[in-house]
Order: sequence, then structure tokens, then C-alpha cells
Amino acid sequence: MNFLLNEQVELVAATARDFAEKHIRPDMMMWDEEQIFPVDALHKAGELGLMGVLVPHEYGGAGLGYHEYMHVIMEIAAVCGSVGLSVAAHNSLCTGHMLQFGNEEQKKKYLPKLATAEWIGAWGLTEPNTGSDAGNMQCVATRDGNDWIINGTKSWITHGNSGNVAVVIARTGEPRTSRNCTAFIVERGTPGFSAGKKENKLGMRASETAEMIFDNCRIADSQRLGEVGDGFVQAMKVLDGGRISIAALSLGIAKGAYKAALQYAKERKQFDKPIAEFQGIAFKLADMATRIEAAELLTSQAADLKNRGEKVTRESAMAKYYASEVAVAVSTDAVQIFGGYGYTKDYPAEKFYRDSKLCTIGEGTSEIQKLVIAREVLR
Ligand SMILES: Cc1cc2nc3c(=O)[nH]c(=O)nc-3n(C[C@H](O)[C@H](O)[C@H](O)COP(=O)(O)OP(=O)(O)OC[C@H]3O[C@@H](n4cnc5c(N)ncnc54)[C@H](O)[C@@H]3O)c2cc1C
Repeated sequence: MNFLLNEQVELVAATARDFAEKHIRPDMMMWDEEQIFPVDALHKAGELGLMGVLVPHEYGGAGLGYHEYMHVIMEIAAVCGSVGLSVAAHNSLCTGHMLQFGNEEQKKKYLPKLATAEWIGAWGLTEPNTGSDAGNMQCVATRDGNDWIINGTKSWITHGNSGNVAVVIARTGEPRTSRNCTAFIVERGTPGFSAGKKENKLGMRASETAEMIFDNCRIADSQRLGEVGDGFVQAMKVLDGGRISIAALSLGIAKGAYKAALQYAKERKQFDKPIAEFQGIAFKLADMATRIEAAELLTSQAADLKNRGEKVTRESAMAKYYASEVAVAVSTDAVQIFGGYGYTKDYPAEKFYRDSKLCTIGEGTSEIQKLVIAREVLR
């Protein structure tokens, strides 16, 4: 599907595709096997403008829109989901939060570093006991004069160990009350801020996922993002945009798996003919292609609305929900089409299959997307 592409989107997509082929493909299986977070590849992506896609030129970014962003994530994820996830989390979450809710001083200080990937960003909402129920978080920030003291643990944080700076959402009011969370910028090296356990994951193994621990971590009030009590609402708005990037991540994985399976089905012969000539395989390919195009339409719709500054809660949840389930279904079919070879690391299908599952979990599970969609359609 390419009718929404224009010359600029095609050019940006080509840059991302070239980056992925040159700087990711050669080493990605080794990174995956050994769980190496390829920070140098992200620095390279930063030089190409891929780490601050939506950041305006005045803050050192590429100054592009959501269609370009969606295609950047798709092209990278079609080669490696892990790097796609890291690029998406850096752009949408940490950088996106500061871009939307930072004051001028904060934007001038942090966005140029993030947009060029001189600094890698992390974003901490989830905790060990509060994932889907993030509003019930236990990490607290207490006011002390002109400072805040943060105590608690954030878990499952992309770049939780290697991130140079994190946006952290902490509770500043009573539990289970409205407007009880506030967002803060915390730099790596701040006393009382350390990394905890690094997760050993099924897929997305080259995207670092780790705990962030706050033990009497003191930060100045100038590190607060927006108003006291706005943190949760801010986080939900950041996720509205972030979900477009997870939909794009899902699409990239689905496209990569489909492309590999299509080629293999034409080449692999059984019973003296290519397996693509068996209806059982051809119908799988037809389903894969149809689902991918439907997911791309939903994601493009959300990107379009976002570019126009409209509310995208419903559309981005639909795109994320549908595209992530498509990524899992398509990569599962890809393994099936590869047969026994699909179950080995000599062929690309197994990695797409492992990486795809994160897409139905991260930035809100499929069940939570359905809650969001239901709430919107029942309004
Ligand atoms: C690789 C990876 C990277 C991540 N990166 C980040 C990051 O950078 N920053 C960050 O803050 N978080 C991050 N996360 C966390 C992620 O957003 C959470 O894992 C996710 O929101 C789900 O939370 P949970 O794991 O606690 O599951 P739970 O909330 O415990 O859910 C468990 C199951 O219960 C279901 N469930 C829960 N509530 C309901 C309900 N009301 N109705 C129906 N079903 C329900 C869920 O859908 C799920 O199937 C990351 C996670 C992973 C795996």
C-alpha cells in the first residue's frame, strides 16, 4: 500500500531502510543472542535524524510529521524489532513527553541532546505491582522546600539502565484520587537514582529493558514537567501518540515476516512444486497481505489525525490493537510457511515471531486497548 506516500515520506523511509541494512542487519542476531543493547547504532540513527523525527528544527530535530515517523519505525522493525522498539520508545515516550509538556528551558536543555541521540531517553510509568493499573502507582515524590524526593521502583523500562535521562511519573497525591501523579525529568547520575534488574526476554532482546530504582532521589522543582497533579493525564496523551509508533513497529515486524515467507514459499519445493502453489499456503499469504494492508490503513489514519492536531485516543488504540495482533498472526504463519527451518535461527521467521509478542503487551495490552476503544465508542 503506498497511496499515502509522498516524496518526502519515501525519502525518509529510504534513509531508515538504508540505515537498517547497513547498521543493524549485519549484527542483529548476535545482539539478540547475547542481549546486547546496540547503543552505537542508536547514535548513528541520531546522526541521520531518526531519533528526533517529530522534534522541530529549532530543538535540533528532523521537524517531520507522523507519516514520516511511522515509516521510519516500520522500515527499522522490518529488519529488527528490537532496534525498532528502542527507536520508537526514545522518540515517542521520553522525547515526546518533553516535547509536549516541557517548558522552554527544559526543551532547550534536553531536546537537542535527545534528538541527536547524544543522550538516550527512558520513560518510567510502569511499576512491579502496577502495569495496566498504572494510575495506582506506588513510586512517590514528596515535596521538600524547593526540591522533590522520589522513592520507589519503575519496572520494564526501555533503556532503564543505559538511558542518560528519564521522564518519571510519580505519585504526588493520595492513592486512588484524581490528579495524584506528576512527571519529572531525572538525569542519570543523580544521587539516589540507579538501575536495577535487567530483564532476560523472549524477544526484543537487543532492546534494553530494566528497572529504575529511586532511593531518596532529590531533584529540583525545575525538573518538574508541567503542573503538579498532571502526570497521569500527560502520560495518557503521550501514549496516544506512542501507540501509533507501536502500531508501526507491529507493521514493520509483520511486513518483514511476510516478505521472508513470500519469498521462501516461491522457492521451497515439495511434491515437485513450489509450496506457494498449494492453496493451504497461498491462502495464508493472502490473509497475511490483507491483514497487513488493513493494519496500515488504520495506522495511517491515526498518523493523519495526529498530524492535524486532532484527538487520536480511539484511532491510535484501534491501530495499536489491530496491528499488534496482526504482527503476532503474520509472524506465526511465517514460521509455519518455513516449516522446520522456521523453527531455527538460520532463518528470519523465528525472530519476528518472538519479537512480535511484545507488541500486544507494551504501551497497553490488547485488553487495555479494547477498554480504551470501548470507552470511546460508548461515549
Ligand atoms: C519489552 C517491554 C518494554 C517496556 N517498556 C516500557 C517503558 O519504556 N516504560 C514503561 O513505563 N513501561 C514499559 N513496559 C511495560 C508495559 O507497558 C506493561 O508491561 C504493560 O502495560 C502491561 O502491564 P503488566 O506487565 O504489569 O501486566 P498487567 O497489567 O499485570 O496485566 C496482566 C494481564 O491482565 C490483563 N488485564 C489487566 N487489567 C485488565 C482489565 N482491566 N481488563 C482486562 N484485562 C486486564 C492484561 O491485559 C494482561 O493480559 C514495557 C514492557 C515490556 C515487556
